[in-house]
Amino acid sequence: MDISYIINELAEDRENYFNAIAPPIIQSSNFAFKTVDDMRGAFADEYSTYLYSRGLNPTVDILRKKLAALDGAEDCLVFNSGAAAIFAAVLANVKSGDHIVSVRKPYTWAQKMFNEILPRFGVTTTYVDGRDIENFERAILPNTTVIYLESPNSWDYAIQDLKAVAELAKAEDIVTIIDNSYCTPIYQRPIEFGIDLTLQSATKYIGGHSDTVAGVLSGSAEMIMRIFNSEYMNIGSGISPFNAWLLIRGLRTLPMRLQHITQTTTRVIDYLKGHDKVEEVLFPFDEAFPQYALAKQQMEGACGLLTFIIKADNVEQIEQFCNSLQHILMAVSWGGHESLIIPKCSGLPAAAFNPQHKEHRSLRLYVGLEEADYIIKDLERGFGMMGQ
Ligand SMILES: *Cc1c(COP(=O)(O)O)cnc(C)c1O
Repeated sequence: MDISYIINELAEDRENYFNAIAPPIIQSSNFAFKTVDDMRGAFADEYSTYLYSRGLNPTVDILRKKLAALDGAEDCLVFNSGAAAIFAAVLANVKSGDHIVSVRKPYTWAQKMFNEILPRFGVTTTYVDGRDIENFERAILPNTTVIYLESPNSWDYAIQDLKAVAELAKAEDIVTIIDNSYCTPIYQRPIEFGIDLTLQSATKYIGGHSDTVAGVLSGSAEMIMRIFNSEYMNIGSGISPFNAWLLIRGLRTLPMRLQHITQTTTRVIDYLKGHDKVEEVLFPFDEAFPQYALAKQQMEGACGLLTFIIKADNVEQIEQFCNSLQHILMAVSWGGHESLIIPKCSGLPAAAFNPQHKEHRSLRLYVGLEEADYIIKDLERGFGMMGQ
């Protein structure tokens, strides 16, 4: 399906709402029936009927159809956060006594679920370095039911060979789940490589304006229906109609925003790589990236998120760099219009900083929608204020 068609037309039955160009926000919790028989039908199958907005809602459905098509999936569910999508995807595929193989350092709240919540129910997790397929082979146990991926990782950009992992998992009857937030379906479609469930934080690029928290989970019609009738309805973590409407609005400009960001990010990276205070830049589409070949093979693009290692002898220099930025904001998240930075040392007590640890000197930069020169000038200011 054409991306322009998906974004601009698919699922928009304008004749049903006064030929309005922007779809209506159906801000209704419940829906009425004309006959007992209609109501009976809805109770029997809530997945096919508008009954109550914790389940289906017409505005959310427009968004669902577009997002599933972008993922090349049969169906999808939209949650009120990416974390909720992760939780439902995993919970739906484990029971007491099961085992999960996950990539090392997945998103914080995925890790917390694996380490703190699931063990309470007898589900254990083994973390592997996902850059080598053999690590997955070695970690799989007879009771492994889920392989959890995040490719690229959103700090070090480690990548997994999606096709190889999918083949391995299928042979062992294991469900594969991937966090595809970094690429979005514009730059990577894991289902085409045989991955079962692909999810993303729609808070990032789909929303794109730092005003909505949401998550998407896509997969086969059978799997998505099963999750809808259980975890989705039970946790009640579906997106609200208004937030779904904001995501439809965000989607309209998704390819353009990514295109612009891809161009400016390349310029920012060139600048950083040429700077004498920068030791290293980590970015999957940089030729020096160790997994560059695999990145090029399975991703159509890389987004505006990168990490650079700054040369610093003490934490104060990094703090001065960050504190003197005037346009790049210090904040979590990414994928919005505004450039952002997180120094790794902000997660450490200042006394624990050790310049020998490369990671302590790493900064994650998100390149937003500003012009490259504007961002580079701000970085230049930061480097100038670092001192010795
Ligand atoms: C932000 C993020 C999430 C979680 O999404 P929320 O919408 O914040 O719940 C999951 N994975 C990655 C890689 C993220 O960056």
